[in-house]
Amino acid sequence: MTTQANHQTVSILGIPFINTSQTAFEQILYKRINDQQNTFVVTANPEIVMYAHEHPDYANLIKTADFIVADGIGIVIGAKLLETPVEERITGYDLFESLLKWGDQQHKSAYFVGAKPQVIQKLQEIVRNRYPHLTIAGTHDGYFDDDNQIVNDIRRTSPDMVFVATGYPKQEAFIKKNRDASNALWMGIGGSFDVITGTVKRAPITWQKIHLEWLYRVVKEPARIGRLLVLPKYLLKIIKQRYSKSLTGK
Ligand code: UDP
Repeated sequence: MTTQANHQTVSILGIPFINTSQTAFEQILYKRINDQQNTFVVTANPEIVMYAHEHPDYANLIKTADFIVADGIGIVIGAKLLETPVEERITGYDLFESLLKWGDQQHKSAYFVGAKPQVIQKLQEIVRNRYPHLTIAGTHDGYFDDDNQIVNDIRRTSPDMVFVATGYPKQEAFIKKNRDASNALWMGIGGSFDVITGTVKRAPITWQKIHLEWLYRVVKEPARIGRLLVLPKYLLKIIKQRYSKSLTGK
């Protein structure tokens, strides 16, 4: 095990995941936000791990994050197969909701970048209604070629949190390049704006509890089936890593 911002990590195909619980991790983030410590969080699932495995530039990019969290059961299973289990999965969406709630209680501010224009519009209404004491520093949809205007706006408004929901690898590249614009928590959260606005339905809690949320999404959006094909490849790589570990005795 190595450490990530002074916390224990578990390596999965060379990607270091923080090994902690969601509650403990939230406390770490709350403190860092209060201290205005610039923080980059990557929420990584097997798809991201495989993408990083095949794209060394992206792997190096996400390794500059302060924390990489185990977003999904695939990472939890991978860690178990490697005999270096992680405490639990910490999904980007659950973190996002907790941070909005905490940000409301603490009167913090947040900037939102990502999703289609009508989704980001709806997100503003939802945040205003549900989290009235959280200041919306600004918003922008996720379909832009030039990020200058967005970054200048983030610099000007200096938010406590910046949520980037443009999907990987775009969101992590955006954060790596621009995180100096505000001493904030910067987090890439994929399709979370679609979920919170109800544009895409999250699996019912029963499906979530038995860790079949990924299957529910495929049933609802069959076009995503191709994305699932990465899973057997991922598991095979994990088994290879496990085998080479036992050969080298590490
Ligand atoms: N998106 C975006 N800009 C782009 C491409 C995608 O803002 O150039 C948004 C898209 O509208 C969706 C999210 O990024 O809201 C990606 O969702 P997905 O479920 O694919 O994310 P992941 O599976 O990576 O979490």
